[in-house]
Amino acid sequence: MAEKPVVRFAPSPTGRIHIGNARTALFNYLHARRHGGQFVLRYDDTDRARSTKEFADAIAIDLDWLGVVPGRVERQSERVALYDAAAKKLRDAGLLYACYETEEELEYQRKRLQARHLPPIYNRAALKITPEGHAEYAAEGLKPYWRFKLDHKIIGWVDGVRGETSIDTASLSDPVLIRADGSYLYTLPSVTDDIDMGITDIIRGEDHITNTAVQIQLFEALGAKPPRFAHHNLLTLPSGEGLSKRLGHLSLGTLREEGFEPQAVAALSVLVGTSHNVEPVVSLDDLMTRIALSDISHSPAKFDPAELNGLNARTLHILPFANVADRLSVLGVNRDAEAFWLAVRGNLERLDDARQWWEVVSGSDTFTSDDTDLVALSIPHLPSEPWDTETWSKFTKAVGAASGKKGKALFHPLRLALTGREQGPELKALLPLIGRAKVLRRLEAASR
Ligand code: GLU
Repeated sequence: MAEKPVVRFAPSPTGRIHIGNARTALFNYLHARRHGGQFVLRYDDTDRARSTKEFADAIAIDLDWLGVVPGRVERQSERVALYDAAAKKLRDAGLLYACYETEEELEYQRKRLQARHLPPIYNRAALKITPEGHAEYAAEGLKPYWRFKLDHKIIGWVDGVRGETSIDTASLSDPVLIRADGSYLYTLPSVTDDIDMGITDIIRGEDHITNTAVQIQLFEALGAKPPRFAHHNLLTLPSGEGLSKRLGHLSLGTLREEGFEPQAVAALSVLVGTSHNVEPVVSLDDLMTRIALSDISHSPAKFDPAELNGLNARTLHILPFANVADRLSVLGVNRDAEAFWLAVRGNLERLDDARQWWEVVSGSDTFTSDDTDLVALSIPHLPSEPWDTETWSKFTKAVGAASGKKGKALFHPLRLALTGREQGPELKALLPLIGRAKVLRRLEAASR
């Protein structure tokens, strides 16, 4: 790609973003990163009544947690002058026309068309209003809303995911761009910004395919070359239900609070519904090297939120210490505890689980065992320091020879004595971390 892509993620700050929004954000971000381009975070906040600063701030935090770092941040609420200029351009070109029908009237017309098995498309009656007619409405104090006059034809594009795609705009109602109170709906600000910001690639969910046909006409009406478009499949739950902001449990904020790793959330949200298996990754760059837009499948991306548990565990099992050191230190783990991390990560489902193993390694607790005799017999066989990963096998060989026990009967009582747990990380790794003095104390305590 000669030209560096400029992409945007354009959430409306009217709720928390969820794992399906993460999919859109990440496809954009990974595409920009892969080609050395720019990722713009654009808040589509023209709906003043529903957009809040709190939601916008929460979105920024959620994206940051995922590892998505915008190169530029914009708010549509601060850019209205641009939209006014674009609206004027359309009006001057005769492509924006005033309408007065009420929602009830429009609904009535739609119902009548449907009853006659006709598509419920706006009848363009407002185009026939004479200048006198407009003056009368104005005299009554009625304010119009404004529709964009579509050029009825087939609009085609080569979609980055779906290939050749086309929509017949004759099957669409002329979209309302401006409400009667003068505020803008999503369409015109979006295209105006896409032009102004030099967006080269619009990557978004396939629920926007029809919008794309309208927007391509708007780009052209505003004298701009349309960008490339790519529409990814949408995430659906096993029940077939789509995701919405109502599904709070799949919001990024909730997943973070529940202790999931951002890499696991990113891998699941991106890799389901593609030609790749859902595999753990250690970073977004790792994800970036695996996936391209053309790998996204054309059918819905069914996913089971329960998959996140297993994927989270498999992610922890491969995460390097550097990725978790800060959060481990919050749990009380020393900053130089890399050996500890490497010893325990394979046993974790959530990072929080590391806390109990840190207790085992660094705490002063002693435990009991189910074979006090064996534990007592083991004590004289404890090797002298220095200890390494061979120590456990030297120790258990000697204890096995002295007791005649092997397998579970040998290892299980010793594991209980040393960790207080039935299962856990390999003792050959834990033993040197616990250290001889404490191991001795635990064996003595569990031998009584
Ligand atoms: N604010 C729009 C949405 O959240 C943006 C869609 C787009 O990417 O153009 O659906």
